Amino acid sequence: MDLTFHSFQPLGFSLPDPLVDLERIAMNFYWSWQPDGVDLFRSIDPALWDKSEQNPQKFLSDISQLRLWQKANDPDYLEQLAAFTGKFDAYLAEPAKDEQNGPTKANPAAYFCAEYGIHNSLPIYSGGLGILAGDHLKSASDMNVPLVAVGLLYRYGYFRQSVGHDGWQQERYTNIFTAGLAVEPVYDGSGERLTVSVHIRGRIVKSQAWLVKVGRVKLYLLDTNVTDNEEVDRMITGHLYGGNTETRIVQEKVLGIGGVRLLRKLGVGPHVFHLNEGHSAFLTLELVHEYLEENPAATFEEAQDAIKECCVFTTHTPVSAGNDAFPTGDLLPCFSADFIKELKLTPEQFLGLGRIDPGDKNEAFGMTPFALRMSRTANGVSEKHGEVSRGLWIDMFSENIEPNDVPITFVTNGVHPPTWIAPAFQSLYEERLGKDWHTLVSDKNAWSTAIDLIPNDEFWRVHSNLKHLLIAFIREKTRVKETGSADTIHEHRDTRMLCSPDVLTIGFARRVASYKRWDLITSDLQRLLKLVDDPARPVQFVFAGKAHPQDWTAKQILQQLVSINHDSDWQSRAVFVEDYDQEVARYLVQGVDVWMNVPRRPLEASGTSGMKAAMNGVLNFSILDGWWIEGYNGKNGFGIGGLDVESEEQMDEDDAVALYDTLENKLIPTFYSRGADGIPHDWVAMMKNSIATLTPQFSSDRMLRDYLDRIYKS
Ligand SMILES: *Cc1c(COP(=O)(O)O)cnc(C)c1O
Repeated sequence: MDLTFHSFQPLGFSLPDPLVDLERIAMNFYWSWQPDGVDLFRSIDPALWDKSEQNPQKFLSDISQLRLWQKANDPDYLEQLAAFTGKFDAYLAEPAKDEQNGPTKANPAAYFCAEYGIHNSLPIYSGGLGILAGDHLKSASDMNVPLVAVGLLYRYGYFRQSVGHDGWQQERYTNIFTAGLAVEPVYDGSGERLTVSVHIRGRIVKSQAWLVKVGRVKLYLLDTNVTDNEEVDRMITGHLYGGNTETRIVQEKVLGIGGVRLLRKLGVGPHVFHLNEGHSAFLTLELVHEYLEENPAATFEEAQDAIKECCVFTTHTPVSAGNDAFPTGDLLPCFSADFIKELKLTPEQFLGLGRIDPGDKNEAFGMTPFALRMSRTANGVSEKHGEVSRGLWIDMFSENIEPNDVPITFVTNGVHPPTWIAPAFQSLYEERLGKDWHTLVSDKNAWSTAIDLIPNDEFWRVHSNLKHLLIAFIREKTRVKETGSADTIHEHRDTRMLCSPDVLTIGFARRVASYKRWDLITSDLQRLLKLVDDPARPVQFVFAGKAHPQDWTAKQILQQLVSINHDSDWQSRAVFVEDYDQEVARYLVQGVDVWMNVPRRPLEASGTSGMKAAMNGVLNFSILDGWWIEGYNGKNGFGIGGLDVESEEQMDEDDAVALYDTLENKLIPTFYSRGADGIPHDWVAMMKNSIATLTPQFSSDRMLRDYLDRIYKS
């Protein structure tokens, strides 16, 4: 691993005068959720744009001066650039809107999260949590909500995935600065780099601040790669979810405690601190510390009661591995005795804050119990997850409390429509519903009526084109693979015939984890292959997803899947696309026919990829868990199985049968039943129902509105 440290060096590029606005546009991720913004870069050199992995910094530094000057002399392009620049400037010029009893320009909401999935060119996310946080910021920007966000800048980001001939996942880490990053150093009033100090490992560790512009929203990232720090401390923010328990604890100290100190230095006095997942919960200790400095006579409990009033917590998973719990032997050495004393706590009392039962010395320090104790409100991320969380944490509350009275509510997740709806659909809506079609999304009835009026053939045409695009992408992505001795679903000698645009295509992309049951679809291989090989009505599959580098079981699941080698059409009708990220996700959720999700109930807190698919008319084919219980209406996709929770074995068995039955009796017949015009009208009706009903309900604008009305207000 490359341990040399690079200081910040913006990639060098110099733009012809007529194109200088591109530099400003490239430094704000606003372009990434505007089809005309993306086009501004791509249209200069489409092949290089893909080669640069849609990273404007890299793209602009690699592009030839000749090509730039050609564009600088192209009136059409200059007109396009001027139009976008005008739109961008007008967007930025609008001041944030104060919320009554909520965040205001003077006292914004402060959003804390360990990962952010803004765009694939800023690889500081691993999956759902990060994407959700990114979409939260984008909606805050679009809705002009006063919100500032805090996170960490991981120098080596999250890993890039490849899969070897043997099907075993391999990880690659690269310094994310080498490709160029749209982040800016933050300076203080005297022109020095703005840093904050946190006491870590018995010494002072400095973190420097970076700024990421997400439209109107500012995202600040802390990074310990500062020359004053010792070598090991410079790697605290080295990898997202990397390292051992101690690394995680000190990372979370930088995020929480460093994050509050950063906001203070920036002069930001938040109306509310939103702890998005428990990783940032140490921020509450800093708030207590501040309070006790100002109110020396107060007790810890008084301070706790006071600071709780401005802290809200969102829990994201009912899976125990997803809830950070630190053995007390690891945790205590990470906090100085003085700090704990200054909080007016004994070490035992401190440890008790993170336990379900504070007196149980064997219990680890859980960030979820800790965050629950230190926040005014707590919420899960779907109605079902709220209920599951109340049951999960009930023991923290008084003995006779009824499950329904446990103070954990819910706000169902959402995704950002402009980020996830295919540009081709956006332009169809623009044509049919008008330029400001997005405003219709917040009006359920108007949106649904408008969608219904669009003729079926237009929907089908847009969808078919997206499907062709996906298949071309798959063939291209897998073409460069050198193969071993045989074709497998991730390595192919010849990809020209891989997948067919006429075949019912099922997408399955998610983190590899056992509860997601990657193997459910292959559990009855004979029954599955019969469907895949059906000459008249075949099905094909596209898989993608990463296993956590330290999760051996997950890597085995992946290996098993990609190693299925069979004398059937499986090899050409199933494909695994490596390195699932936002770019791959976009192709998939926009181009497949069906989005499959088969988690073991009730472990999917919400799920968000299905929402992205739904907004593109891709029909969900999913277990009734998480968001899908709320979204499914019988006509906008397919439900698998029922709502009962049985033993794990029974559930796996029943769900597998339900999966195949639904596939055979509903999906396949509906998809292949065509009118004289070749269009599957019943299917298209479901696509339209999906877009009409699920887009408003699962938009991140709706989610943010819920947070403003029900959580941030005080
Ligand atoms: C949306 C998304 C996720 C989260 O999907 P879930 O359905 O919530 O698991 C993970 N990774 C990427 C790259 C995504 O785009």
